[in-house]
Amino acid sequence: MVNRMNILKEKLKETGFKITPQRRAIIEILLKNNKDHLSSEEIYDLVRVDCPEIGLATVYRTMQLLDEIGVISKLNLDDGCIRYEISLNKEDTHHHHHLICKNCGKIMEVKEDLLDSIEKEIQDLYKFKILDHDVKFYGLCPKCNKR
Ligand SMILES: [Zn+2]
Ligand SMILES: [Zn+2]
Ligand SMILES: [Zn+2]
Repeated sequence: MVNRMNILKEKLKETGFKITPQRRAIIEILLKNNKDHLSSEEIYDLVRVDCPEIGLATVYRTMQLLDEIGVISKLNLDDGCIRYEISLNKEDTHHHHHLICKNCGKIMEVKEDLLDSIEKEIQDLYKFKILDHDVKFYGLCPKCNKR
């Protein structure tokens, strides 16, 4: 985590992004909870614990800046709320895929990219050059499926 913070800091410095204590607190929350795909409101609730004076507008603005710099990626589940995760290095850029539980809302990540062969087939069939894909699977997580 220390490592990621340093990489992130370097990137932010390159772009002239100023690390204020509030922004730093937001970034730390993001790094600590990266697997949770937090929304701005959830980030706000977590940051407020250590940083009670922070406003929701600051969180929105910071997320917007981090997005412009290209160090976070957004996950849109079409539920009116955008979730974020830090996405730093090249292998993060092709985004992993997500499994979304219809029952409890849990979001899991698929590490393997199994779609290369499908891409190739589509390219051959439709003469369409695929540059990227974004896939979400909806279903039941192991816990909900047991019920
Ligand atoms: Zn579930
Ligand atoms: Zn993710
Ligand atoms: Zn993929």
